[in-house]
Amino acid sequence: MSTMDTLMNNEDLVSPGLSACQGCPAELSLRTAFKVLGPKTVLGVPPGCIAGVGVPGWGLKTGMKTPVVMPLLGNSASLMAGVKQAYAKIDPEVHCVVFAGDGATVDSGLQTLSAAAERGENIIYFCYDNEGYMNTGFQKSGTTPHGAHMSTSPFGPYSRGNVGFKKDVPLMLATQDAAYVATLCPSHVQDFVNKVQRATEVKDGLCYLHIMSPCPTGWGVKPDQSIQYARAAVESLYFPLFEYDHGTFTISRPSLRAGKKPRPVSEFIAGQRRFRHLTEEEIQQLQDDVTRKWNLLNKLAS
Ligand code: SF4
Repeated sequence: MSTMDTLMNNEDLVSPGLSACQGCPAELSLRTAFKVLGPKTVLGVPPGCIAGVGVPGWGLKTGMKTPVVMPLLGNSASLMAGVKQAYAKIDPEVHCVVFAGDGATVDSGLQTLSAAAERGENIIYFCYDNEGYMNTGFQKSGTTPHGAHMSTSPFGPYSRGNVGFKKDVPLMLATQDAAYVATLCPSHVQDFVNKVQRATEVKDGLCYLHIMSPCPTGWGVKPDQSIQYARAAVESLYFPLFEYDHGTFTISRPSLRAGKKPRPVSEFIAGQRRFRHLTEEEIQQLQDDVTRKWNLLNKLAS
């Protein structure tokens, strides 16, 4: 089935009335992923934006059309691994999936995610990365980029924004025996669908899919610009698309194309309120970090 057939013909398993902010691509990613995963899926959704917008459901006619479990912020991977083990005896074709934000993944939930990868639990773990704790007041997370103005790392007389650099959890999981790792972006739908499809085929370990998810509210951009920023993240190599499949790294076609003549990172950050205080020197630091990681990825894929 082609990508368009998958998207046109498969049922939308998310009810129409979620309360996400206008232009939120996390909701779009959830809908797209579930069109590929299909109805034989159990969703674990920890506290975060996607739980908060009503995915667990209010009453019987809202939220997901599949079963939903709501873990704590830090135990999504271990809880869904247990659900998967129970389903393995009932119906091994049921996908047990986590859809968690970066806070619940790269900070609070990293220990249980790492342990599930080590044990080879056959769950599919999505992280929608909006680069902060966005539904609780825009606090910094482990994937917040360097220099970003957040409520807990504000720009002001004594601070230039976030001190650290973005934590690279996809590479961490790839070097830690996850069976399949991929980076996805809602601006590149065909690549997105292919990677979710591949995750459904893997039966011998953990699949980790990391989604770039611009947050219009937290990043200070217009709702109709979220896909534009998602595309700029890929085309500047700020967020390169790649796969790690059972030991082999492959750079995905959109990033291979972008790598020939990448857009400067300054184009990705332009217009974002969280970066508007950055100096030329600070922007160059971000650019250097992006270039360093891209070079590393090329070495791993060569
Ligand atoms: S705060 Fe950001 S990530 Fe959360 S629902 Fe709103 S736009 Fe989406």
